Amino acid sequence: MTAAPEEIIANLNEIKLNLPKRVRLVAVSKTHPNEAIEAAYGEGQRVFGENIVQELVDKAAALPKDIEWHLIGHLQTNKVKYIAAFVHLIHAVDSEKLLKEINKRAAQENRVINVLLQMHIAEESSKFGFDEPELMSLLESGRMAAFENISVAGLMGMATFTDDENQVRKEFSSLKNTFDRLQGDHFKDASFNTLSMGMSGDYKIAIEEGSTMVRVGSNIFGAREYT
Ligand SMILES: *Cc1c(COP(=O)(O)O)cnc(C)c1O
Repeated sequence: MTAAPEEIIANLNEIKLNLPKRVRLVAVSKTHPNEAIEAAYGEGQRVFGENIVQELVDKAAALPKDIEWHLIGHLQTNKVKYIAAFVHLIHAVDSEKLLKEINKRAAQENRVINVLLQMHIAEESSKFGFDEPELMSLLESGRMAAFENISVAGLMGMATFTDDENQVRKEFSSLKNTFDRLQGDHFKDASFNTLSMGMSGDYKIAIEEGSTMVRVGSNIFGAREYT
């Protein structure tokens, strides 16, 4: 159930209190009503994350225009057009086909869309994302240069869903290594500066391992109910 506004405010402030300056907080508001977002907005929170395109579009239309909307979940190519005009950051870009479509729609909107490349770091095979050889071959091909309306702002990853802290830590640490390497070799611009890793259950570990952006939902808004 969605937490009451005063709980949301308290949760948000507690998380912010312990967040290092270099780490941005994406408040993951998926499934929660606009009133919940307004409570966090009233406390100064401006960055919100959603994972369903239709829900993101509806919320963006109804809520204040200075919100930075992030699409955090898997994005289907045929849905890019609905968010291309306003989305601030797309976290989970995991194929060249998706890059192509984002670039095309961004060009039509006369803008540059910020994206994160999602890396597959978890043990589960169901999680989306590039694996490292696949990404390296795309980068080395030179084909990224064609995407003039995309700015690659960094990487995103999700750790295995497990109680084993060491495993989660290892996965985050390996993503941080990849991030550092790409920053040195392929993305030398200052705009490649974002490492999105960490959710309610593991964001503290992610921060210790070098995250610069955490995506926190239930710890702010309460548990989600799916119907
Ligand atoms: C839902 C979601 C989150 C937030 O999950 P919580 O455990 O509620 O913090 C973070 N990242 C992605 C990609 C999500 O889909």
